[in-house]
Amino acid sequence: MDIQFLGTGAGQPSKARNVSSLALKLLDEINEVWLFDCGEGTQNRILETTIRPRKVSKIFITHLHGDHIFGLPGFLSSRAFQANEEQTDLDIYGPQGIKSFVLTSLRVSGSRLPYRIHFHEFDQDSLGKIFETDKFTVYAEELDHTIFCVGYRVMQKDLEGTLDAEKLKAAGVPFGPLFGKIKNGQDVVLEDGTEIKAADYISAPRPGKIITILGDTRKTNASVRLAVNADVLVHESTYGKGDEKIARNHGHSTNMQAAQVAAEAGAKRLLLNHISARFLSKDISQLKKDAATVFENVHVVKDLEEVEV
Ligand SMILES: [Zn+2]
Repeated sequence: MDIQFLGTGAGQPSKARNVSSLALKLLDEINEVWLFDCGEGTQNRILETTIRPRKVSKIFITHLHGDHIFGLPGFLSSRAFQANEEQTDLDIYGPQGIKSFVLTSLRVSGSRLPYRIHFHEFDQDSLGKIFETDKFTVYAEELDHTIFCVGYRVMQKDLEGTLDAEKLKAAGVPFGPLFGKIKNGQDVVLEDGTEIKAADYISAPRPGKIITILGDTRKTNASVRLAVNADVLVHESTYGKGDEKIARNHGHSTNMQAAQVAAEAGAKRLLLNHISARFLSKDISQLKKDAATVFENVHVVKDLEEVEV
């Protein structure tokens, strides 16, 4: 799986950074792409990637500030225009109000979609596990911003062990139905009496990945809980070292606070986004350098950058 950043700027677009959106590409896993936030112009950014809008099956919204949702009506409308492709439904998860925003925008602009949108709205009292399939579970928890805002924890379920076919062949197991039995965990006895223990031929299950994607927030324990043992933590860094007071006043975090969250949570990797346009490129290297004194495996992401998880 990969994360591709579509917009990494804070508040308003700049030439280098568009407003918030990122794509979690689960093409190998489930042949789907999930979007997290959809700031204005997200569809233009998608044009510069290999992402096919029809593959976007779910959109998770962290909060209703404009720089995180104003791209929705445009993206949803354009997604309808790929007439030669099958029209597939889409799920939108987000705070209460997201449904009214989307439906109102579509209605007053006379936009009719040839596919269905299933809305899953939540508030403070209906958070926790918001989605589960046999492959993934997604949790949401409230963060600490100026309006209701959540962070998401995407947990891939552990991957089954694979059958070592070479080792089985070497042990004299004839290719055929016995392979299937062993793969299902069944011990078998060969014609010559040899006992084959399935466990010896199936690799251990691999732990699933954990990806934590936070909305805008002050430093809060909820961020740490969402990021416990995460393979990747995507955290905002609207401000830099020394700006803790102003960050707090505006409901945001500094790079240092993001690094503290990653360290406290035992995350493996920290990606900083939601970067203010005030920061020039030398400031960006400083953001990273300062954060690395608290949490070493940190990186400030750019628009269109793709990160393998
Ligand atoms: Zn915000």
